[in-house]
Amino acid sequence: MDTPSEALHRVFGYDSFRAGQQEIIDHVVTGGDALVLMPTGGGKSLCYQIPALVRPGVGVVISPLIALMQDQVDALRALGVRAGFLNSTQDFDERQMVEAAFLAGELDLLYLAPERLRVEATTRLLAKGDIAVFAIDEAHCVAQWGHDFRPDYLALSELRERWPEVPRIALTATATPATHAEISSRLGLDQARHFVASFDRPNIHYRITPKSEPKRQLLEFLRTEHPDESGIVYCLSRSSVEKIAEFLVDNGIAAVPYHAGLDARTRATHQARFLREEGLIVVATIAFGMGIDKPDVRFVAHLDLPKSVEGYYQETGRAGRDGLPATAWMAYGLQDVVQHRRMAMEGDEAHRRRQVHHLDAMLALCETVGCRRVMLLDYFGQKGSEPCGNCDTCQTPPESWDGTIPAQKVLSTVLRLARERRQKFGVGQVVDILLGKKTAKVLQHGHETLTVFGVGTELGNAEWHGVVRQLLAQDLLAVEPAHGALVLTDASATVLRGQREVLLRRETPRPARAKVAASAKAQPVAAELPAEAAPVFESLRAWRGATAKEQGVPAYVIFHDATLREIATRSPSSLAELGTVNGVGENKLAKYGEQVLQVLADDEG
Ligand code: ADP
Ligand code: ZN
Repeated sequence: MDTPSEALHRVFGYDSFRAGQQEIIDHVVTGGDALVLMPTGGGKSLCYQIPALVRPGVGVVISPLIALMQDQVDALRALGVRAGFLNSTQDFDERQMVEAAFLAGELDLLYLAPERLRVEATTRLLAKGDIAVFAIDEAHCVAQWGHDFRPDYLALSELRERWPEVPRIALTATATPATHAEISSRLGLDQARHFVASFDRPNIHYRITPKSEPKRQLLEFLRTEHPDESGIVYCLSRSSVEKIAEFLVDNGIAAVPYHAGLDARTRATHQARFLREEGLIVVATIAFGMGIDKPDVRFVAHLDLPKSVEGYYQETGRAGRDGLPATAWMAYGLQDVVQHRRMAMEGDEAHRRRQVHHLDAMLALCETVGCRRVMLLDYFGQKGSEPCGNCDTCQTPPESWDGTIPAQKVLSTVLRLARERRQKFGVGQVVDILLGKKTAKVLQHGHETLTVFGVGTELGNAEWHGVVRQLLAQDLLAVEPAHGALVLTDASATVLRGQREVLLRRETPRPARAKVAASAKAQPVAAELPAEAAPVFESLRAWRGATAKEQGVPAYVIFHDATLREIATRSPSSLAELGTVNGVGENKLAKYGEQVLQVLADDEG
């Protein structure tokens, strides 16, 4: 049997553990229970895969993501790990084969859908084998009301009674202490040690930009920063998903839609294409992405505001799992605030309060003049980190300015419409009044006779929208759920009376192009290679693509981008030297070593 670090080198071909991995693995290998909280992309899988390899018996992994089990098993088999799965997609014969392998002790890892454990036949099967560890992936499923898998996950509390001697490790990327406590109690993990890894994902560059023409902005972002790279574009509604996907295709960018309204076959095909093809974009609602462990997602773009910081962090966390530079980009505007404020008014009192709390945190992140990462980490309980240098606000610090007078102008317009005319209007009309525009709607309502008419010509239309958005974000103004009309809040009066200063963020409509280009982190991954290595990297990518296609597996199952980059840069001349590259383990060296050296030799010749 290997030690954990021997398994890390020999099987996975990695140099060193990532933060947290070693302690967790050591604890589980010695039989301890663990509750692991790590951000998406932090490296949770190794935390149970290595104990499964190092301890005698089979590691049983409970995962709700049955659509991804085949890929997970393929990736392990490519490493020479003996893995199999049991779920409802298999026919009798396939299941029989896996069960026989399990009983014969010929498996290192067995993936199980949670509902399998409620079938008596499965527990009988497991009782006949030797189990090294139980891993409960996506453990937050047990804590979320209304979660599809919750009933199955609740039944997992029985594992302790049936297998008291087998260590259990529950893993999640969901951070709140309440979720943690509930996982612990529901799964009977009160003896478990808690491991909370750092939430930082330093290779992700965060950027939140004012939304003006979202489609054009998205296109420019993709073309200048991520040409031909894989990524996810999140939209709020199914119809905008469809529209944006079509728009990208019309502009020559490979993209497919994904949302719950598509039939299961189409969804599965689009997901499989995303995993297998290089450079494909998925435009999706939040229905897409859970458990997707594609390591080379180079960007996650949000065209609509996520509902919470948790959601934002989980979605953006899908970028850059391989540790290479990746971008989390979001376009955010007034309509997002209006729409979310309206949605937050739905449901019962407790629900509303929760929504508002989540929304306020999300808006604070969008409107901050400080480092985004500091704010994110602070939100997840990691206080006091240093400004990161790899987010938009660090690189182009926005100014804040005293917006008290413009704020008073907006609020007093809303107040006058209400008091003098018994009317309520949306942002468009309020801004037209401030700018003194004699539109048909202004004349129809006689708004040109209001004393505030034309008092706001010092700012332009977009700037006024920015002011209104920030007032909404600061809760100094509100929107009515039904018609989106602006109304005052309790706090508005303090501003109108001049008792409160309003600090606003100066809009920088587009960060200066030079600034973005100067930031190495935002460069396409291939472009960061030394000049002579770039064509070699492309040859290796082509070889990898062909090999993956032949085997019907995603390209990253053969080698990650990071591994190909290192090979291209170091240009090893022997198998022994190739074996020292990060990500080249024993099995892959034996299987692909000669071919890789051949690609390098061809390239030189
Ligand atoms: P999570 O499940 O936490 O989202 P994964 O387990 O999928 O993350 O790991 C993310 C990526 O990081 C994977 O591609 C994995 O191969 C890689 N990885 C994990 N641990 C290491 C390590 N110690 N060294 C190098 N790469 C690692
Ligand atoms: Zn920063």
